[in-house]
Amino acid sequence: ISRHIMPFSYSSIKFDQKKKVDKYLHQFHLSDKTLMELSMRFRREMDKGLCRDTNPTAAVKMLPTYVRSTPDGTEQGEFLALDLGGSNFRILLVKVKGNGDQKVEMESQIYDIPDLVMRGSGSDLFDHIADCLANFLEKMGIKNKKLPLGFTFSFPCLQTKLDESVLISWTKGFRLSGVEGNDVVSLLRKSIKKRGDFDTDIMAVISDTVGTMMTCGFDDRHCEIGLIVGTGTNACYMEQMRNLQLMDGDEGQMCVNTEWGAFGDDGALEDLRTDIDREIDAGSLNPGKQLFEKMISGLYMGELVRLILVKMARKQLLFQGQTTPQLLTSGCFSTNYIYAIESDKDEEGLASAEKALRSLGLDPSAEDCAATRRICQIVSTRAAHLCASTLAAVMRQIRDNKAAEKLRITIGVDGSVYKGHPEFSRKLNKMVRRLVPDCDVRFLQSQHGSGKGAAMVTAVAYRLATQHAE
Ligand code: BGC
Ligand code: MG
Repeated sequence: ISRHIMPFSYSSIKFDQKKKVDKYLHQFHLSDKTLMELSMRFRREMDKGLCRDTNPTAAVKMLPTYVRSTPDGTEQGEFLALDLGGSNFRILLVKVKGNGDQKVEMESQIYDIPDLVMRGSGSDLFDHIADCLANFLEKMGIKNKKLPLGFTFSFPCLQTKLDESVLISWTKGFRLSGVEGNDVVSLLRKSIKKRGDFDTDIMAVISDTVGTMMTCGFDDRHCEIGLIVGTGTNACYMEQMRNLQLMDGDEGQMCVNTEWGAFGDDGALEDLRTDIDREIDAGSLNPGKQLFEKMISGLYMGELVRLILVKMARKQLLFQGQTTPQLLTSGCFSTNYIYAIESDKDEEGLASAEKALRSLGLDPSAEDCAATRRICQIVSTRAAHLCASTLAAVMRQIRDNKAAEKLRITIGVDGSVYKGHPEFSRKLNKMVRRLVPDCDVRFLQSQHGSGKGAAMVTAVAYRLATQHAE
């Protein structure tokens, strides 16, 4: 008998499957109370990272970025930007027309990073980046110009100035030898020099979170938080210098890169992590690291679902107890499947579930498809709510800094999950408002990626440098 999804029987199937899955995944459900408690817990982690005495052992590093202000609109010139660490490697040429109307023109190109390079040595990676840069400059006909360059490098880095940034550790899918503990600007300069056929002036290294905040800050001056929910997850915000004990000086502000993906690396999330979370971590490139990120971001979301499917099949709760070699292969359930399966149209979502499961060699029943859709919903809802609880902590920190009763704030956001998942942004926004009710919050999606932000940071740095030179 061929089994097809019958719309008229769907609601009862849906109800039964929902109950079955919800019961099995009850640990994935986080109550408002738990999320509020988690938010306070993260606020204490932020404090730990900000204070000089506790920073060395803090899991959440609260890294100074040397970015002290958002653009003022007078920046101008032509800038190059590199964007490495998300789902794509991009090079951009950004023209900023500082005539007050905040005009920006951009050309950009996506380059591939071959798998061989991804698993090789860091110097090969930087050689590859220099090759791509040469290709880009050639194409734009500007190989003979020495342009200022901003580098969005989306990994935890210890910065000592705007253009010196030492990689602490790779995250996400990256693991290349010879870069951790080294300044990525020197590495890039070396590779460019080795080619010898062009030159640039590397002025700034920034996190994608900072790039996103700056991009959105160009359009909305209330933007003081940058949030990424993509391949990885992280946030930055404008902090008072007086709270940043790692830095000398008490005047003004500096953007802090929280690196919240590492929340829990010291055991702080053990009560919330499930067997599945432990399994993901054990099979990852960086076991024991980025534990919060692994419960949330796009690199892991599909894998979380896959592991749940396997477990439930083994318990005879799905696929009549059957598994297939594909289902048992890590990485085979793409996070993109989740976006399609969670389509707000029931039939579309179920058809996508069926398609995804069939592509794994399974022969799913209508019940299996409904259950799979529910699993996706539970996993992505947990991700959105976890993000909401840390974001709420950052918002409260800013509110307390300003001693404002009601905070008016804009959050610049980017990332494939936030933009690609049909429900994620709505669930995140809703929970944030529940956790911080006395706040006027606006989520602003970054339109041009963090690369534009790198150009903006560079433009600001360039403006300051040329002002000082005069
Ligand atoms: C990195 C962060 C980055 C985030 C989003 C994390 O894995 O550690 O530096 O901002 O991913 O790309
Ligand atoms: Mg990115």
